[in-house]
Amino acid sequence: MLVTLDTTRADSIGCYGAAAARTPTLDALAARGTRFARALTPSPLTLPAHASLMTGVDPPRHGLHDNGMATLPESLPTLAEAFAEAGYATAAFVASGVLDHRFGLDRGFARYDDRLTAEVVGEYGYPERDAAAVTEAALAWSAGLAAGRPYFLWVHYYDPHSPYVARGGLPADAPPQRRYASEIAFVDEQLGRLLAGLPGDPERRIVAAVGDHGEMLGEHGERAHGILLYRAALEVPLIVAGPGAAGGRVVERTVAAKDLAPSLLGLAGLPPPAGLGPPLSELFGEAGDAKRPVYGETWLPATAYGWSSMLAVTVGSHRYVQAPRPELYDFAADPAESRNLAAAEPRRAAAMRAALAAFAVDPGSAPAARPVDDPELDARLRALGYLSGVTGGSTDDIDPKDGIRMLAEFEEAKALMSAGDLWAARTRLDDLVRRNPANVPFLMRAADARFATGDAPRGVALLERALEINPRLDFLHLRLANARLAAGDAAGATAAFRQALDLNPRLAGAWLGLAQLAAMGGDGAAERALLEEALAAGTVSAGISTRLGQIALAAGDGAAAEDHLARATRLVPTLAAAWWSWGEAAERAGDLELAARRFGRAVELAPGDASALLRTGQLLARLGRTDEALAMLERAARAGGGSPAGVEARRLLLAYGGRREPAADLDEPPEPWRE
Ligand SMILES: [Zn+2]
Repeated sequence: MLVTLDTTRADSIGCYGAAAARTPTLDALAARGTRFARALTPSPLTLPAHASLMTGVDPPRHGLHDNGMATLPESLPTLAEAFAEAGYATAAFVASGVLDHRFGLDRGFARYDDRLTAEVVGEYGYPERDAAAVTEAALAWSAGLAAGRPYFLWVHYYDPHSPYVARGGLPADAPPQRRYASEIAFVDEQLGRLLAGLPGDPERRIVAAVGDHGEMLGEHGERAHGILLYRAALEVPLIVAGPGAAGGRVVERTVAAKDLAPSLLGLAGLPPPAGLGPPLSELFGEAGDAKRPVYGETWLPATAYGWSSMLAVTVGSHRYVQAPRPELYDFAADPAESRNLAAAEPRRAAAMRAALAAFAVDPGSAPAARPVDDPELDARLRALGYLSGVTGGSTDDIDPKDGIRMLAEFEEAKALMSAGDLWAARTRLDDLVRRNPANVPFLMRAADARFATGDAPRGVALLERALEINPRLDFLHLRLANARLAAGDAAGATAAFRQALDLNPRLAGAWLGLAQLAAMGGDGAAERALLEEALAAGTVSAGISTRLGQIALAAGDGAAAEDHLARATRLVPTLAAAWWSWGEAAERAGDLELAARRFGRAVELAPGDASALLRTGQLLARLGRTDEALAMLERAARAGGGSPAGVEARRLLLAYGGRREPAADLDEPPEPWRE
């Protein structure tokens, strides 16, 4: 069993020295297994790091250097394939769209559960699910396992990724460090529940828990991860428990997390595929090589920010980072990596640079990662220098150590935007784009500021420039499509929605956009066909189910409406529109009590919707629930002001005979139109 702990830095776990951590499950695994005190990820990015865990090779050999851009080459064997070939049942339960099966990590898994609800999203709009949902899905699968059949199960927990939710009774405004810790505690608790619920003899189960990368909590100016290659980003927990892993052993030497792949095969008695590095020797009763160089890289600074990419090699307690200004640290003497020794120790720096060069792969002999889309985009990327070989492109020639300072300004600009200070935000974002014109997040936010200040043409131009730099990101095409739709460019919007679907056939927003365009053109049949096509493609979306329910309702198909809307409210229980339409379905079927309950939920979720309040009041009156009806009508009158719903609510209140005096504020001047 492989458990990947997203965004989990080693020192956030109790057995790694985090005094205040609540990680009893992982601590217990370490107590009965082997803990690697210094395990390093090859990349601080989710997809490249997981690709290494699944193949046992570094990014130069598997070719996935960034999220969302390419698919694992078919020629590379995976851990799951090896287990499947040996007769194991195989299943994976992933928690983020970053690990969507289209990136190829599903190979070898008989079941690859990446069906995530489109509306439950994290960073960049990638769908995600929490640890409880992952555990639930994995337990449901394990209940169907044939007794005694060996299995390889991979579960991926994503919760500690930003934004940090306050868990376990922590106040929502607790400091970020504590919220981050509370997410890790939640994952640990869910892992405990999973381990307790799995079938089979726990004594015979091999369990490996490993972080995909760490998290920068402000060290060296970075928040989150992906840009800099320091300890907080690279050092991950790595614990192996079960037969073969000696109880309570701690391995202090520096190891590569990717070497877990041949180790798991070895512990299960299976031969690793050719070309993999040696397994983690200590798991096989042997001493490890403390001087074995461990590779690291990040291309995100180049592919997303237009800066330089970074490469790193760690040997023992020394790390060399290749960047426009190279760095060399001895983190045994300098745990904070604050004293750059590159100039003071030129011979060591040169030796480590040579060690790093040994990881480079001749582009001719490396298996090429397939682009997720058509060769034409591939050619455009090549022209921009992004597929050029060992390092990413560096359009604006900025060292990430310097670039990181602009991100603080970027955060300030985003805060101005959220606070409604749109023009100030626009000025700041324009300035950032001027200084760093190849920075995709800057371009995206600068476009947002243009839309918010009424300059749609410039906003569209900024998004188009972002897409020239990064044409493989589905969410960029979706943004452009929505911008064109808002600007009335139906043909341009259609093209961009289609491009987004070419990249990601389950992108709910693109299907909904195309359906909306069909509806605007008066073609109801086409709208419905598009939404059904989305479901057939495997899209899971409360928005799509709600719309299909509404269409069925309008067509008089009560049973279909009931199905779609029940599903929508199950997927996203806080979607008022779904509850509202579901109430209408009950009303149409003549079950007024049920309709009142569903309407009641809708108005709880959208308490300012005067029309909904009015209709709920009317329904309660029909049911003879007069007190509740009057209370609801008073709320409708208050929320509706001078709108037709507000006026009607006031008329009904009077018509009910003033059994209760209208609230005093009903006589105040009506609020602006609210519909
Ligand atoms: Zn990750």
